[in-house]
Amino acid sequence: MSLIRTDKLSCHFGGIKAVDEVDFTLDQGRIRALIGPNGAGKTTLTSLIVGRLAPTSGRIYFRETDITRMPPHKRIGLGMAYTFQITTIFEDLPVYENVLIAAQRFSKARGLSLRTEAKRMLELVGIDNMRHQRAGDMSYGHKRLLEMAMGLIQQPNLLILDEPTQGLSAGEISDFVHLIGEISHDTTVLLIEHNMDVVMALADIVTVMDQGRIIAEGHPDDIRRNDAVREAYLGT
Ligand code: ATP
Repeated sequence: MSLIRTDKLSCHFGGIKAVDEVDFTLDQGRIRALIGPNGAGKTTLTSLIVGRLAPTSGRIYFRETDITRMPPHKRIGLGMAYTFQITTIFEDLPVYENVLIAAQRFSKARGLSLRTEAKRMLELVGIDNMRHQRAGDMSYGHKRLLEMAMGLIQQPNLLILDEPTQGLSAGEISDFVHLIGEISHDTTVLLIEHNMDVVMALADIVTVMDQGRIIAEGHPDDIRRNDAVREAYLGT
């Protein structure tokens, strides 16, 4: 059974077909990369999946249950977690408090010792040494890692990461690749990523979007060789 499936899903902004009749299927237990040039529709597609945007037409299924009209907080209750370019961080609070708040919002994590769990998540993403800092004082890349810790403490079935390596150093990116490999044992990961080395290292399957449509899907090596992808995206 698929974890996520869309059926002719569209989202138009005026004349722009940001997502155009997309049939997208994501099976459980894998790392899927979603790639494509700027403006291809990747963020819009994932926003539709999590309910931040309503589709113009088409349907969305979670484990074959129609969730097209389900509000975002209920989708989180199904086990979706996401990081969208720092939209969830409370800048004035310490790093550690941010993770605690994320845990307290979601009932699944209750019953665990939240403080221990919050610390463990910060260790996992590699920013435990910053836990008493004001979140707003962290670098962009570290905020992204904080968001990941806030997502992971929810014990999601599906973790959606929108350009998570943006702003990270080479060393941090290599830690991140290792981390995602670990996480993917328990969680399906949907990764929007521009760094092709990260995509090639992690993804089981790569989905390529261009102009609101899926133009290719397959194993990373096949995608790298695909002519249409090279023309649309890789520029070679
Ligand atoms: P990037 O890699 O640059 O983040 P993307 O593949 O995520 O790009 P989207 O952000 O989904 O692409 O944008 C798809 C298209 O829809 C673009 O043409 C964009 O300008 C347009 N678009 C996205 N959101 C809106 C909005 N709220 N209002 C109007 N147009 C929008």
